[in-house]
Amino acid sequence: MDHLATCKKILNSKKDVVCMLAPSFVADYDYPEVIYRIRALGFNTVVELTFGAKMTNLTYYSILKDDIDRTWIASPCPTLVNLIRVKYPHLIRNLMPAHSPMGCMSFICKKIYPKYKQVFIGPCLTKKIEAQELGGIDSALTYKELDQLFTDYKIPEKITARKYLKTFDKFYNDYTKIYPVSGGLSATLHSNKILKKKDILIGDDMKEVTKIFDGFKDGWYKHYKFLDLLTCDGGCIGGIGMAGHFPVKQRKKRIFKYRDYAQRYEKDLGRSGKKLHVKGIDFKRKFE
Ligand code: SF4
Repeated sequence: MDHLATCKKILNSKKDVVCMLAPSFVADYDYPEVIYRIRALGFNTVVELTFGAKMTNLTYYSILKDDIDRTWIASPCPTLVNLIRVKYPHLIRNLMPAHSPMGCMSFICKKIYPKYKQVFIGPCLTKKIEAQELGGIDSALTYKELDQLFTDYKIPEKITARKYLKTFDKFYNDYTKIYPVSGGLSATLHSNKILKKKDILIGDDMKEVTKIFDGFKDGWYKHYKFLDLLTCDGGCIGGIGMAGHFPVKQRKKRIFKYRDYAQRYEKDLGRSGKKLHVKGIDFKRKFE
């Protein structure tokens, strides 16, 4: 499936469409200008994946708080999931049976914007595979492809038309904005009542992840209870679909700066998602 062509078809049809933007966007673009540019492309609603990330975390917490009988492996990275499926099928039972922030946000958007088409935009190539597995999401693009859209639709860097000058729509979460940085998931899990620091292992890049998977014995990796692993160097900010507008060194800083800005200035804009907004949605997922 050609996700870029599908997205263009949706935009040209003028149908209602929600853009689900990964929080790593700020490692590639300036905020809020990029949101205005996305609206100028024809997306009438733009949400950030951060509320989905909060739901991923809450689902993890609900699993971890019961007896831990194995080393659990965080599962939001489709490359990691597919690596396990192909090379380490015995570890499928260790994958956290919960949807990724993209999957959770897709369910949330289905509830809030039921008739809208859904387009995900992020730094990841393998999210295209996950999107196809889940259904619901019509197109999954990378930031490189977002740049292509900006070029093809002749969207200027600076937007002045008033109708586009609006930041994110509901729902939204501030502290999970650091999710795309290695260790961002466990740092926002709020798990200190159930996991000690020594129970969690953080890792990134394929080599490290493979070495860890090779070292599993009888469902456990050493003494660890939870592995927060991503396969790209530094986390999703090192994803292959990043447009690369800022050097790798600056990306992490930009993520934290944006998180701090949101916590300071955007906390009380009435867009923060609460548990009651997702009542009735099941965020658990079975891996096969
Ligand atoms: S770590 Fe890389 S492959 Fe994994 S979800 Fe992030 S961008 Fe995608």
